[in-house]
Amino acid sequence: MKTIKMIADEIGVTKAALQKRIGRGSLYTRLSPYISVQAGTKYIDETGENIVKQSFQEKPFVKPVDTTGTDAGIDGNTRETPPEIQALINQLAIKDKQIDDLNLRLAESNAALVAAQKKIMTEKNFCPCCGIYEHDTPPGSDDICPICKWEDNGSMLKYRTVC
Ligand SMILES: [Zn+2]
Repeated sequence: MKTIKMIADEIGVTKAALQKRIGRGSLYTRLSPYISVQAGTKYIDETGENIVKQSFQEKPFVKPVDTTGTDAGIDGNTRETPPEIQALINQLAIKDKQIDDLNLRLAESNAALVAAQKKIMTEKNFCPCCGIYEHDTPPGSDDICPICKWEDNGSMLKYRTVC
């Protein structure tokens, strides 16, 4: 267990600089399981110490971070995302959501289409002329309707009003 001061000395930065660095942002989130407070002093265990040192290796401390609270932490992305980029990122997220919604609706209408086709395929072959008699043969089988005498052949089907 080491204090922030001890680790700062080992890295070669001031305690204040180190505190500022880990005080907020993703580094603090990563470190928090390894920090314990004893008598008002923060102690960082060996795992936490390695995280801090690794962070300084990845991104050497050059100058004090600005005070706007935008320190992105240790992932190398220390600059604030420009508002126009952030706006684009937000828009992309919205578009992603919209595409997901559209895909969902597309899948739904495809399913409905398949169901409708199935229904047509399995629907009984009623006489197109009187609509009462149910032919037990597929359309165009020259079956003659016993009710209206309509002949179920290709040309009659084409001119179904002629019966
Ligand atoms: Zn008929």
